[in-house]
Amino acid sequence: MKNHFQQTCFIMGTPDSRRGPPDSGVEVAFAGRSNAGKSSALNVITGQRALARISKAPGRTREINFFEVSDGIRLVDLPGYGYAKVSKSMKGQWQRNIAHYLETRQSLCGVVLLMDVRHPLKDYDQQVLNWCYAAELQTHVLLTKADKLKRGPAQSALLQTRKKLQNLHPEASIQLFSAHTRAGDEALQQVLYGWLGLETTEA
Ligand code: GDP
Repeated sequence: MKNHFQQTCFIMGTPDSRRGPPDSGVEVAFAGRSNAGKSSALNVITGQRALARISKAPGRTREINFFEVSDGIRLVDLPGYGYAKVSKSMKGQWQRNIAHYLETRQSLCGVVLLMDVRHPLKDYDQQVLNWCYAAELQTHVLLTKADKLKRGPAQSALLQTRKKLQNLHPEASIQLFSAHTRAGDEALQQVLYGWLGLETTEA
C-alpha cells in the first residue's frame, strides 16, 4: 500500500492554534498523555524519525506542532499532558489551548487519542474524549505498547476499554497498536486515509 505520509515535513509550532497555519484544508490531531507513545507512533506512520524529534525539542513540548503531509493536508501533534510536576496554572493553560483548538479548528477532521494499553482512560484522556464528543469530532483511540501485554490480556484490555468508551464517545473507534512491532499500523493508516480523503488503493 502506498504510504502518503512519507513526505511529511514540519511547518511550525505554537502554543496558541490561532497563530497556527491557515485554517484551510484538512488535518488530523494526535493527543495523549506524555509517554503514551505519540512520538513513536508518528515515527511509524510517517517513516520519519526526525518528525517526532522536532516535537520533543526543548520548548516545543508545550506547543501544538503542525506537519504538512501534502498541500492542504496536515498532521498535528498536540502537547502531551499528565505531567505530575506541572503547575496548576500550566495545566489550566494546556486545557484552554487544547480545548480551544478542538472546539474551533475548522480544518480538524479527526482526533487520534493514544493511551498506554496498560493504563487507559485516565482523567485527562476522558476530558479529551468529552471535548471531541462535544465538538462532534471523529475519534480513534490507539491502545499503544500492545507488545507489552500477551495476546489474551491485550484483547481483554481492548474489549474493556471499548465498552467504557461507549459512555464517553459512542462513535469513537479503537484498536491495539505497537510502534515496536508495527502491529496495527495498517489499520491506523486506513483510518487516517479515510478521514483525510487520501487514496487507499495500491498506487
Ligand atoms: P510520547 O511522550 O507520547 O511521545 O512517547 P514516546 O513515543 O516518546 O514513548 C515513550 C516511551 O515508550 C519510550 O521509551 C518508547 O520507547 C516507549 N514506547 C513507545 N511506543 C512503544 C511500543 O509500541 N512498545 C513499547 N514496548 N514501548 C514503546
